[in-house]
Amino acid sequence: MSTDQDDTQHGPTFDDLGLRPELLQALGALGYEEPTPIQLEAIPPLVDGRDLLGQAATGTGKTAAFSLPVLQRLPAHRTERTPAALVLVPTRELAVQVSEALHRYGKEMGSRVLPVYGGAPIVRQLKSLQAGVDVVVATPGRALDLVNRGALDLGSVATVVLDEADEMLDMGFAEDLEAILDETPEERQTVLFSATMPRRLDALARRHLRDPARITIAREQAAAGEAPRVRQTAYVVPRAAKPAALGRILDVESPTAAIVFCRTREEVDTLADTLNARGYRAEPLHGGMSQEQRDKVMGRVRSGTADLLVATDVAARGLDIEQLTHVVNYDVPSAPESYVHRIGRVGRAGREGVAITLAEPREHRQLKTIEKVAGAKITVEKVPTVADLRARRLDLTRAALRESLLEDDLDRFRVVVETLADEFDLVEVALAAVKLAHEAGGGTDDDEEIPQVSFRPDNRGDKGGRRPERGGEGGRGGRSSGGPATRLWVGLGREAGIRPGDLVGAITGETELKGRDIGSIEIHQRFALVEVPEPAADDVVRALKATMIKGRKATVRRDRG
Ligand code: AMP
Repeated sequence: MSTDQDDTQHGPTFDDLGLRPELLQALGALGYEEPTPIQLEAIPPLVDGRDLLGQAATGTGKTAAFSLPVLQRLPAHRTERTPAALVLVPTRELAVQVSEALHRYGKEMGSRVLPVYGGAPIVRQLKSLQAGVDVVVATPGRALDLVNRGALDLGSVATVVLDEADEMLDMGFAEDLEAILDETPEERQTVLFSATMPRRLDALARRHLRDPARITIAREQAAAGEAPRVRQTAYVVPRAAKPAALGRILDVESPTAAIVFCRTREEVDTLADTLNARGYRAEPLHGGMSQEQRDKVMGRVRSGTADLLVATDVAARGLDIEQLTHVVNYDVPSAPESYVHRIGRVGRAGREGVAITLAEPREHRQLKTIEKVAGAKITVEKVPTVADLRARRLDLTRAALRESLLEDDLDRFRVVVETLADEFDLVEVALAAVKLAHEAGGGTDDDEEIPQVSFRPDNRGDKGGRRPERGGEGGRGGRSSGGPATRLWVGLGREAGIRPGDLVGAITGETELKGRDIGSIEIHQRFALVEVPEPAADDVVRALKATMIKGRKATVRRDRG
């Protein structure tokens, strides 16, 4: 193994992007070592105040790509009450996520960030707006609602970001978006990010963006023959279950030597600790460590004292580990190139290598892109269950006993077996011995089931399954996902000011469903009917009962009519 330390010093850094010291400090504290490709491309024009049209999926680092410039352009120690930036996102989940990111990056600047979304009590949001904010992150329905109540003044907004714009259009927010943009100053900066660029979105961009910088996050094909012989698998795992899932996958895979890639220094340190606690010999390696520390780590890996290296991309650059059998992506890599580069470390010289990727349910599309670029099939597998793990451990014990039977000089134990045989059946003696051997074999007592999840439904571009619109007021197109649907009765209607977007917002905000899973919606005077996939119907009823729609509690049940 050799290190090319010079390599780790090169490449553009966040300092090169001209960001202010408070932001650099926050990024340093978060352990971000270098900008992702989209950040490299998007931050300079955005800091210059240009409009931008970006095509990029989740997981590429796009949130920071627009959040850092938004914060960079905020006047220092701003005291005005009305927001200087507005970020529009399709779902409540994303609103929370984006505002948390803005909050983290803007911590040193004392930036005031507020998420507002449908399906949550409006009173607290009104109060927070009153107190003054710098950046509002909102779902379109709720943003417009607040504008109409006179609670959200968009008159001093200098930047508007439309994040996951295709999703917002899919969810029927087109009119709301237009109405919101009309409320903002014409000279504002407008930023639009979307995973896909359907024609409707192009039209919206042409109307509202001025001479935008255009960015598409690379999708070019890797050169033929570059793909090594690597078995590539992915596991869908909720974030919280990742450490346990990784431990279990490693237990089953038993790598000779593996490198686990993480995004940040903190993640590297935490994961190395967790894996050590599980009985692995894991060593962290990242750019925040001194040369001496890094040399020590490499020494331990070289001598085989450590069998797992947990590293960031930057720190692992230039490393060549001869005996490496497994590459693990603890997160879906931010760029397909980075995936290709990482897995190029195994499967050399005709040996089979294994690449394992842990993906969160929302990262389906990013993984698909990687598959396309890497030109390889990534098989999605189930995280080994407790039963799989037990079976695997028994296999190991059986193999160890077999080896012992074939090789060891066992005669000195004969007296033990013979004395016990007077008292017990021989099979029982053997069972007890196996139990002791099995327990001595170690492994953790990891008997908690890890939730088996799958990717969120993602049928974008598959419009073939759409059924014709059902008649009735405010009807929308049918669901795109097929499968049996159930009609729900919601005790709020036109009289309560309910629009289809409110129901879509509440359902997508409170459940796992996406806009496209929701079928036709009819808004009547005093009630509304909404079609949802049958398997999710009870969940939706429960969630809608527990929340507020347009600030009101509603009766919700399966439609009997
Ligand atoms: P996003 O594509 O915005 O959803 O970001 C994906 C993940 O990457 C988030 O967890 C971010 O915290 C993380 N991230 C974004 N930029 C960087 C970076 N330059 N270095 C390390 N992690 C990053």
